[in-house]
Amino acid sequence: MVPVLEVVRGDITTQDVDAIVNAANSALLGGGGVDGAIHRAAGPELLARCRLLGGCPTGQARITPGFRLRADWVIHTVGPVWRGGDEGEAELLASCYRESLARADEVGARTVAFPAISTGVYGYPKEPAATIAVTTVRSTPTAVQVVRFVCFDEPNVSTYLATVTV
Ligand code: ADP
Repeated sequence: MVPVLEVVRGDITTQDVDAIVNAANSALLGGGGVDGAIHRAAGPELLARCRLLGGCPTGQARITPGFRLRADWVIHTVGPVWRGGDEGEAELLASCYRESLARADEVGARTVAFPAISTGVYGYPKEPAATIAVTTVRSTPTAVQVVRFVCFDEPNVSTYLATVTV
């Protein structure tokens, strides 16, 4: 079944879903942007658990509990750094969405919230990133029932809405 897609403006750390996705870096030891916000909200237990994972390659995903978050789970995925588009960035970004849904399926999460992976410090252009997010979620077999794209800023809401309704 194809999940229902939702687009909201907001902060991913406060979403009432089974799992939230973190746009992490490959060390999985926290950072700025959405990663820092998730670690602050989840509490120090999250970093302690992430240390045990030994990092994560770009395009893959790891899962931990959500600790102090409303979400039961945090799925940590490592998006590609944008290097102009000829270095496999699109396939790696698509892989982040597929792998995150696979981790969600492994624990039975049915509602999953994603940030706009790679579109902050990693510099991926927002429109193609939104297209990849939506098309990959729509084409990946999963038992997840609701996928919520959480946009931190209003322009990104419009970008996602335009993509979802195509
Ligand atoms: P990356 O390193 O993958 O680019 P960033 O955290 O820098 O990750 O940015 C990814 C996206 O997450 C950006 O679009 C940014 O605006 C957004 N973002 C930052 N903080 C939050 C938050 N608390 N909730 C949802 N999205 C956020």
